Amino acid sequence: MATIRLEVVSPDRQVCDREIGMLIVRSTGGELGILPRHAPLLTGLVPHVMRIKSGLGAGDEELMAIGGGFMEVTPEKITILAAAAEEPKDIDVARAQAAYQRAKQRIDEYKSAPKDSASIDIDRAQLALARAMARLAATKNPIN
Ligand code: ATP
Repeated sequence: MATIRLEVVSPDRQVCDREIGMLIVRSTGGELGILPRHAPLLTGLVPHVMRIKSGLGAGDEELMAIGGGFMEVTPEKITILAAAAEEPKDIDVARAQAAYQRAKQRIDEYKSAPKDSASIDIDRAQLALARAMARLAATKNPIN
């Protein structure tokens, strides 16, 4: 079976460098499926759960939380420079739950009284919420 190399780098470490069968990511332009010999591409990534398939079977899939970043694709290699990237085993679920609640509270405060919420950076809160949701989804944890 044809494969493509996936390298994921975060600011503090190399998270992954291996051959895979297919990658499904959420770019700034929408969801993309990357197979071996994909056309060259450079795009931004939003916070999401990336799906890594080693083969083409339905059950054969690993998840990785991506906190946003950039992806470069060549026919042989996918390089992801991520603001943060974690495999499920490295995710602290309680920390992600707390981050979710903090972000949610800020967004709720902003929505209930936008004029009084000048100190709340709504874009930042929404991105923090998306990162927390990605971490919880990657570990298959419900939000609570
Ligand atoms: P928090 O508010 O909990 O710091 P955050 O979304 O603001 O969450 P990031 O800025 O995305 O955090 O990440 C900062 C660093 O902390 C990165 O190295 C990231 O991998 C790590 N990190 C953040 N949240 C978690 C988590 N729940 N489990 C494991 N590592 C995490």
